[in-house]
Amino acid sequence: MVTALKELDIGERLHVFPGCMPSNDSTTRTSQPAFLKALIRQADSLERLSHISGNTQYLPRKCSTFDDDTARLRHLSNLRSLSLGIETMLLTHLQRDDYPASLCELKVMDVSWANNLRGGPEDTLRHPGRVLRHCTEVVKGMSRPIDLSILFSNPNPEQILSTIPTANIALVLQSIIDGLLRTPMYTLSSLLRSSNRHLSLLTSKFSSKNSYIPPYMYGEEVPFEEVFYDSDHFWRVCGVNFRVMDDEVFVEEVKKKPKMACAPCRDRVGRWECYNAGDGSICLHCERDSRIDGREVECVYDVDTGAWGHEVE
Ligand SMILES: [Zn+2]
Ligand SMILES: [Zn+2]
Repeated sequence: MVTALKELDIGERLHVFPGCMPSNDSTTRTSQPAFLKALIRQADSLERLSHISGNTQYLPRKCSTFDDDTARLRHLSNLRSLSLGIETMLLTHLQRDDYPASLCELKVMDVSWANNLRGGPEDTLRHPGRVLRHCTEVVKGMSRPIDLSILFSNPNPEQILSTIPTANIALVLQSIIDGLLRTPMYTLSSLLRSSNRHLSLLTSKFSSKNSYIPPYMYGEEVPFEEVFYDSDHFWRVCGVNFRVMDDEVFVEEVKKKPKMACAPCRDRVGRWECYNAGDGSICLHCERDSRIDGREVECVYDVDTGAWGHEVE
């Protein structure tokens, strides 16, 4: 008797070396419809599927027969959990509203895109927004959105999304990334919340703080996943509440109160604006210093006589 397949992890190579190239023949790859047809042979049993279709520079061209093809993701009638590389054909199926009613969670992995950032620092800065906007398009195509988590393969997106842009670099940054830093994250988070669904953002980390797997003779360390954003705490990234900077309505409310500036911000090099709620709670800079950098800060306030607005030195 054949045992039914319940779980499947299938990943094509992300690293390519001379003399060791991925096949050009699309029929041998998992990015074309024959792969889905093969999966459908396990339609009644498959509950969890993880798929990465490989290095994006070597993916076979997308198949144009998608529309008339009979192999549909929705035929996997017991599928509950999907982990998909952002480059996979299967993610396109979700975007076209093709998935079974049994599906309740989706994890999207950015590793293939992250490995192919060739445009230097600007590409790195744009990357989290690109991933978040792509996932937004996928969710918009789904008539019944499900809980979504996005796993970033390295710590850059987490660092970028938890940045406090100072006045001097905010405009430059906006022009590089086509808008405000965390807007794509809030957009996707709101979209999911409007269907009572959940967004979480995760980073792959190593407990040794190395950002790579060391050679096996030194012991192969397995990465773990750490959540740095959860839509239940809408304005918090890495434990820091960005509402005083990012929520325009709230910021307007705060501006009606007397302007406060904390002692550490008065001492900060460049005289940064003190983003605080005006109620004595910890300011954005101090909260970030203590939560992310682990520094001890004492955020105490005085009324600031300066006018509202960014102070550019
Ligand atoms: Zn402050
Ligand atoms: Zn402070």
